[in-house]
Amino acid sequence: MIAVKEALKCIEEQTQAGKKVKIPIAEAFAHVLAEDVFTTISMPPFRQSAMDGYAIKWSDEKEYTVIGEVQAGAATDQALNPGQAVRIFTGARVPDDADTVVIQEHTSRTDEIMLIDKMPNKGSNIRPIGEQVKKGDLVLEEGTLLNEAAIGFLAGLGIDEVSVYKFPKVGILVTGNELQELGKPLQEGQIYESNAITLQMALKRAGIHQIEVKKVGDALKSTVNAIHGLLERCDFVLISGGISVGDYDFVKEALEINKVEEFFYKINQKPGKPLWYGKKDQKHVFALPGNPGSSLTCFYVYVWPALRKIKGFKDYKNKLQKAVLETPVTNTFGKVLFIKATVYEGKAHQLTGQASSMLKAFAICNALLIVPAETAQLEKGNEIEYIALDQF
Ligand code: AMP
Ligand code: MG
Repeated sequence: MIAVKEALKCIEEQTQAGKKVKIPIAEAFAHVLAEDVFTTISMPPFRQSAMDGYAIKWSDEKEYTVIGEVQAGAATDQALNPGQAVRIFTGARVPDDADTVVIQEHTSRTDEIMLIDKMPNKGSNIRPIGEQVKKGDLVLEEGTLLNEAAIGFLAGLGIDEVSVYKFPKVGILVTGNELQELGKPLQEGQIYESNAITLQMALKRAGIHQIEVKKVGDALKSTVNAIHGLLERCDFVLISGGISVGDYDFVKEALEINKVEEFFYKINQKPGKPLWYGKKDQKHVFALPGNPGSSLTCFYVYVWPALRKIKGFKDYKNKLQKAVLETPVTNTFGKVLFIKATVYEGKAHQLTGQASSMLKAFAICNALLIVPAETAQLEKGNEIEYIALDQF
């Protein structure tokens, strides 16, 4: 059995960012840039009007003759003499002779004559070439998360492909004779299988959509075969259940038969003690305990940061925050406790129903409080660290 910190360190050391791949920006959402991005155009690429109004050559004059117009998208460059103005619209190319745009609201117009009520400063309302970025600039650095704004920004620069860290394809293997599929009636002794969908949803939250789910009963042969198949087709395997010490827990043996190298088995924590972690040919295998609360705790604490590191995040570790306990905590186990809680305005409320077989508290909590193994007692008002679940 190893300590939580050691387990985290081990996984961290065994995990690298995924391969670099070039993909269309429309598929790059939630990915991390694997290379710096440079722009081949300036933005804006031409002197652009920031407002609807009139382009002029700035002077003390109030009266101008309107000699033409430029719409957004038009390539026109209209020559301007002093005392002349060109009607212009937001986003349109400003004539080379003009140095100022007067906003429509500060003018009055009679036929060709435009009177300025309020003269702006010289240079107003014109976006210069390259105001945002200049041709050749480094616009987004390696390591940047591509959210909707970043993808839109790249699109605005005409960039339609990016190099990102590849997301893993994840295999989920669910084990257990007692597990019934949704939609079928429960027979005596059965419960509905829920870990596969829980893990799938958690992976979706991580932006991972390539997921293969397999289900087997508690039998060595089918477990060996299922693990073999998932290791062939996936980069990352999550196994649910069958990793404890019962007579019908075959996962550990099946992993050994598949020659998956064990890095650790069992962590000094509650819930989630029987977590097993290993690798084969750079593919990660996490055998999660079957109890739904344990499985999800292990996912958040260990699998999530590993996935973030594979996805290319530099800050892949779970961020720990601090809150003040509203109720005391007793730790008679000498283990790290992960307690489902709600944290609101810096105050932590423990929820009832902490058993690892239960998911109700998980369903409504927003934090996992972390009680250190060596801490036997914490009082109301004491500070406690927690993993905020809304960071996921
Ligand atoms: P195991 O780790 O296989 O010994 O399972 C521990 C407990 O979790 C047992 O009560 C199982 O019935 C339950 N369990 C295991 N797998 C699942 C699952 N996929 N969905 C819901 N409960 C499960
Ligand atoms: Mg089982």
